[in-house]
Amino acid sequence: MPQFSSGEQKTAIAPMTNPTGKAFDYLAELYMGTDLALMSEASFHLEAGESKDIRLPVTMPSAAGVYPVYLGVFSNGTNIALYQAEDVVIAIARRIAPCVYCGAQFTTESDLVAHMETNHPGKPYVVWASLPEENVLLTPGGQYSIKAKVFAPPTVVGESWIFAFWSYQWECIAGFIVIDGGTPAGFHIGEAASYHCLHRLGRWYCPPLGENIVYSDCYLAGVDRWYSNPVWKSVDIGLRVNFIA
Ligand SMILES: [Zn+2]
Repeated sequence: MPQFSSGEQKTAIAPMTNPTGKAFDYLAELYMGTDLALMSEASFHLEAGESKDIRLPVTMPSAAGVYPVYLGVFSNGTNIALYQAEDVVIAIARRIAPCVYCGAQFTTESDLVAHMETNHPGKPYVVWASLPEENVLLTPGGQYSIKAKVFAPPTVVGESWIFAFWSYQWECIAGFIVIDGGTPAGFHIGEAASYHCLHRLGRWYCPPLGENIVYSDCYLAGVDRWYSNPVWKSVDIGLRVNFIA
């Protein structure tokens, strides 16, 4: 089954033939999903016996899943054909993180992985990070969740990789994805809960409402004062959290 990302823009191409001896005006409609949601339509004209490729621009649906695809053809308001095309799979689009070492940008996971293997072999990195909720109600003491895929090189027992994600101030609000010592090199998908606000000297210090950068740090823990010796720190990986009141 063909696979697309949610919100991706594509153009369906449908070859059409007028098998009759008369010219007609037609309307083609493309539907996706079992509820036949109208995704695109195009008017066209075919002379007697003429064939033409009709282009239907489609913005892919936002929800993940398998979608049946149908094409309806109308002439003079009458449905003259309904075709079922191949089902398509919609996956949630994830923004690929830039290279945490040199800032190079990528649109696919495999391009990022190839860049890391060539330019920064054996080093940890973030593949993608996303927020299940982009608009987060700002509440003192509340948390928001960050999902991320990371690559972690091998560690010995007693060491661990710490991937931190934070906005506003690091001290009390970083969420951590921790890869324990003794784990072989590999990719990991984890979830971190980052706190909204910092409680200090009897009051809450909260981030400003609106868009805040979510920063990324990485540490190799297990050595003394690991937090003062980051592999990278305060890197903007393109992730934003929107705090709302
Ligand atoms: Zn790089």
